[in-house]
Amino acid sequence: MSEETQREAEATPADNQHSFRAEVNQVLDIVINSLYSHREIFLRELISNAADALDKLRFRAVTEEELMEGEGDLEIQLVPDREAKTLTIIDTGVGMTRDEVVDNLGTIAHSGSRGFLQAMSGQKPTEGDASGVDLIGQFGVGFYSAFLVADRVEVRTLAAGDGQSGWRWASEAKGTFTVEEAPEWTTRGTEICLHLKDDHHEFLDEWRLKELVRKYSDFVSWPILLEVTREEGEDDDKKTVTKDETINTASALWRRPRSEIKDDEYLEFYRHIAHAHDEPVETLHFQIEGTTSYTGLLYVPKQAPWDLFERERRQGVRLYVKRVMIMEDCKDLIPDHLRFIRGVIDSDDLPLNVSRELLQEDRTVRSIRKTVVNKMLAALEQMADKRKDDYAAFWGEFGRVLKEGLHSDFENKDRLAKLARWPSSTEALTSLGEYVERMPDDQDAIYYAFGTNRDAVENSPHIEALKQRGTEVLYMTDPIDEWAVEGIREFDSKPLKSAMKADLDLAKEATEEEKAEKEANKERLGDLCGRAKAVLEDDIEEVRVSDRLTDSPCCLVVPEGGVHAHIERMLRAQGQDMPKQKRILEINPDHPIVEKLHLMHAGDSDSEEVGDWFRLLHDQALLAEGSPIADPATFARRMTKLMQQALQ
Ligand code: ADP
Repeated sequence: MSEETQREAEATPADNQHSFRAEVNQVLDIVINSLYSHREIFLRELISNAADALDKLRFRAVTEEELMEGEGDLEIQLVPDREAKTLTIIDTGVGMTRDEVVDNLGTIAHSGSRGFLQAMSGQKPTEGDASGVDLIGQFGVGFYSAFLVADRVEVRTLAAGDGQSGWRWASEAKGTFTVEEAPEWTTRGTEICLHLKDDHHEFLDEWRLKELVRKYSDFVSWPILLEVTREEGEDDDKKTVTKDETINTASALWRRPRSEIKDDEYLEFYRHIAHAHDEPVETLHFQIEGTTSYTGLLYVPKQAPWDLFERERRQGVRLYVKRVMIMEDCKDLIPDHLRFIRGVIDSDDLPLNVSRELLQEDRTVRSIRKTVVNKMLAALEQMADKRKDDYAAFWGEFGRVLKEGLHSDFENKDRLAKLARWPSSTEALTSLGEYVERMPDDQDAIYYAFGTNRDAVENSPHIEALKQRGTEVLYMTDPIDEWAVEGIREFDSKPLKSAMKADLDLAKEATEEEKAEKEANKERLGDLCGRAKAVLEDDIEEVRVSDRLTDSPCCLVVPEGGVHAHIERMLRAQGQDMPKQKRILEINPDHPIVEKLHLMHAGDSDSEEVGDWFRLLHDQALLAEGSPIADPATFARRMTKLMQQALQ
């Protein structure tokens, strides 16, 4: 029993009444009040849960055969009762123990509800707004959609192998639910009885139910039976009989030939498997036969799920073995940087009782993984080539994830580098290939700069000279970019160079005249640099004359082998122990402030004022790149003093 269940059970032992956890109430409120116009989705959600329960049972029965004994067929049954105004959904799946009932139907997986509420907050859903529907599936609050159509829900359930009789859960969604023994419920599986609200009696209608199942749940691989009433016999002999009709195709969609599957079916299957409501941007369906045989039906969603960067992700690619679901999110099949893929892999070769540990080592799994990666990259390459807008949208959602592969997937590094996109000083979004095509003949490197956002990079002093020359600079604003470019290093024989690192060396592209001028400046300002170094010794490794600045008096650059300032900040924010990294202060030889300081220093090589100016310039360079300054109060005092002097 979980700690929470225990506490709850102890709190109200007498009347079996429990309170929903606070977030369930909030979720219920949102579900009931904002998803009203999409109420028909309740059936899809409940059938989906029933199908999962059957999948789980079949999987457990691989090792525990006795779980199947003496029970009916594995199926889902819909029973509309026109008199009682109830619709009942029954499955013969794994069922739930008492603790599971309280845990699953009284709380919401914490991260799920948090994500749901976060995603919903700030949006006031209106009637007809489908955004909430996406969220329902994604956050695992599907069961609660029952309250879209019912004012009372009763669940009876018996878990496989959990004794002779089960449990009854009931609620009217008014803050509480009850759980009690149900001695009359003696069959394995779960029954969900919906007491339909007065204006929702359409869900008792045979045609309406058939239409909904065909629309949303046809691909469910278990038979869905509908209890129908028919008049049979002639004249006097006429009688009304009830019987079950199978109303779905009930075949594993991915096993059917592509030519027989309609777009709608692919779409609904995606929504089922990904718990999503958007449309996929890419659908890949393939059958591989040979030394290893398997079928794959994979999708790239249009929208990133909220938990893409959470360690405890819920969804992924399902692994089936000969149509038996083995694992809901098989991480071994898909490398991390393709974790946005949803769908199914169904293998003919793996043993049914394969364990997670075995999967990691398994040759078949490795070969499937390789093919999946190949196929997915090929599909993305084609999208990037033929459907540029779709690809740009895809990149916006999942680019950050794909970039992780530049560092981790050595084998496919070149393909990933071609797929990567960044904004630049001249383009909204560009590939490295397009950048190289635009490069003038005499440019021999691809330049980039980092910052927390586009504006920060665009206004960064580090790229002033590059911009002035009309050299394109890639803007890197993702924390992952530092690792990503390190993974690429070179594209099309052109090195990638940071405009913020010490080794930028624009001199190579400079004219003879510019080179001579640089040397002269170095000579002329050598003493001043020495003084600045002495003043800033604790923070700065070196002070030198810059050729990357045009408007700003100075900037801080990263010494060779060092990390960029924003990465340092980020790692510190994450609690990593970063040693203090001394950087290089570059000064602009053409800037009036530098010129003035040069003169002051020439007049008095110990000038206190020159020292103050350098401390100020250093702090200002830190501020300009978004880094904190060590002593803001002293900075402000110096600033005030200099402003006063300027005004006098
Ligand atoms: P999700 O299915 O996305 O996890 P739900 O709110 O739909 O979220 O269901 C919560 C949990 O309740 C499920 O994860 C499952 O463990 C349990 N559950 C729901 N319906 C059934 C069912 N028909 N049989 C067995 N367990 C069920």
